[in-house]
Amino acid sequence: MNKITSFTIDHIRLVPGIYVSRKDPVSDTVITTFDIRMTSPNDEPVMNTAEVHTIEHLGATFLRNHEAYRDRVIYFGPMGCRTGFYLLLAGNYSSADIVPLMKEMFAFIAGFEGEIPGASARDCGNYLDMNLPMAKYLAKRFLAYVLTDIQDSQLYYPE
Ligand SMILES: [Zn+2]
Repeated sequence: MNKITSFTIDHIRLVPGIYVSRKDPVSDTVITTFDIRMTSPNDEPVMNTAEVHTIEHLGATFLRNHEAYRDRVIYFGPMGCRTGFYLLLAGNYSSADIVPLMKEMFAFIAGFEGEIPGASARDCGNYLDMNLPMAKYLAKRFLAYVLTDIQDSQLYYPE
C-alpha cells in the first residue's frame, strides 16, 4: 500500500505550529485539513489522553458555535500520536488564515470554567476521562509560545 501523505512529513524537524496537512477537492469545494501541532514530535512528552479529550470537547464546542466558521467546520479531533489535533474546514485556506481563529479557540479553552460540554455518560463514551486544568495549561502554553508571535517555520512544513 502507498504511504499516505501525512506520513511523509519529516516529524523529526517538525516544531509546534499550525500547518496545512492536505487539501481535498470534494464536489464543488475544497476541504482543508489543518495540522494543529501542540507538542514537538519525538522530542517532548505527548499530551495525556484526558487533556486531549478535554481539548477535543471544548474545541469542537467552540468551533461549532463560532459565528463566522460554524458552517465550515467539518471535523476537529485528536491525532492518535497525541501531539496535536486535526481541524477540517470547508474552503481553500492557508495556515495563516486560521491563526486568529486558533487564538480565539485556545483563549476560550485556557479561560474555561465550569462544566465541560458533553462530559456526561449520556453524551460521551468515556466522560470521566477529562483533565480541565491540564487542558487549560496546554492551551495557555500553545498561545504563549506558538500562536502569539507565530513564525513562518511554524506555518509551513519543513522541506
Ligand atoms: Zn468525549
